[in-house]
Amino acid sequence: MQITPNGHEPIISPRVNLAAEGKLNLLGLDREDLKAAIAGIGVPEKQVKMRAGQVWHWVYHRGVTSFDDMSNVSKDVRAKLAEHFVIERPQIVEAQYSNDGTRKYLIRFADGNEAETVYIPEEDRGTLCVSSQVGCTLNCKFCHTGTMRLVRNLTAGEIVAQMMIARDDLDEWKNPTEGRRVTNIVMMGMGEPLYNFDNVKKALEIIMDEEGIQLSRRRITLSTSGVVPHMERCGKEIGVNLAVSLHAVRDDVRSDIMPINKKYSLEQVLTACANYPGAHNARRITFEYAMLKGVNDSDADARELVRLIRKYKLPAKVNLIPFNPWPGTEYQCSDWDQIQRFSDIVYEGGISAPIRTPRGRDIMAACGQLKSASEKKSKAQLAREAAANDAPHMEASDSALGWVTG
Ligand code: SAH
Ligand code: SF4
Repeated sequence: MQITPNGHEPIISPRVNLAAEGKLNLLGLDREDLKAAIAGIGVPEKQVKMRAGQVWHWVYHRGVTSFDDMSNVSKDVRAKLAEHFVIERPQIVEAQYSNDGTRKYLIRFADGNEAETVYIPEEDRGTLCVSSQVGCTLNCKFCHTGTMRLVRNLTAGEIVAQMMIARDDLDEWKNPTEGRRVTNIVMMGMGEPLYNFDNVKKALEIIMDEEGIQLSRRRITLSTSGVVPHMERCGKEIGVNLAVSLHAVRDDVRSDIMPINKKYSLEQVLTACANYPGAHNARRITFEYAMLKGVNDSDADARELVRLIRKYKLPAKVNLIPFNPWPGTEYQCSDWDQIQRFSDIVYEGGISAPIRTPRGRDIMAACGQLKSASEKKSKAQLAREAAANDAPHMEASDSALGWVTG
């Protein structure tokens, strides 16, 4: 049976939110969706709010996957919930552990598409790098994800699931607040989060909810390649920290390596940064700058970077990322001396510019190295799979992007 909560648009693409037996997966529902779903299975109206609060706590604060474990929910309600719903994680196809403690998970969603999530432990924190799309439409030349032919948005449930999977693997549920190992989230995995705004917003709201996972907005950073029209909304509606993939200080160079710059120029991106709600000196915008040998790494580039940050009066810091290579790339990482010189020049200009130590390179988990094997499938193949799953067929228009051939 397919359940669509009363009075709601289908919550997320049903093709990916329904478990095999056609039950609704509660993972990824926000509070309103959850209440509507519980009301929709005949729980008495007076109880709906209370039951939804209990289920919310068990799903998002305690990490349970079985209704039997919800000990404060009456037996008959538990049976009803189990009859109609599941709490299901996507499948972990592969978990790789790097020598430096970094963990990479390859995750397969209900429709067979895959994305990667990376956990990076440091002395004082543990950061989860979360994907927002399978692939990416933007095709930045230095980025492995940009070479993927298939792109689709992840649903809110699929985004939240990445956090749940990491918490499962890191054994965090026993002590979900004091025992946190994922202390920070960066939306820096596969995909452009601002091209999947609604689902990313919904997922982060679930993750920040004070009766659930309870991660503070100050510990979440969203990275964009510069989707100018959504940057202000990100600050206003989600309120997380902003990182911007800058990577060049001149339009010609930036347009060459990041085609989105032809749409939103450096000036537009920097103006949007200057107007970013909530940015100030104690909460600075991060500029990411991948060091590409002979492309963007000269002393003059460093000086121009300082000039631009001053010109737009930006409360900003710069993260210098040594370029992470991947098979077939045309770029090389800048020489170490040059990265250091670049960093010194920016520091001398009064702007913090640490050099990021690459993490998880040995398992291809570092920035820009993520790529899953999801391939574009023919319409016939999709139809065959949909029929085999007996699931509603997703038309290209169901996904905000459609199937992009790259
Ligand atoms: N699409 C978003 C989120 C990805 S974040 C964005 O582009 O901002 C991942 C960061 O790694 C981005 O700053 C991206 O530009 C950078 N990156 C991509 N490929 C890289 C590579 N090969 N080496 C180093 N950094 C890279
Ligand atoms: Fe997409 Fe970001 Fe990679 Fe560019 S750098 S292709 S925007 S994931």
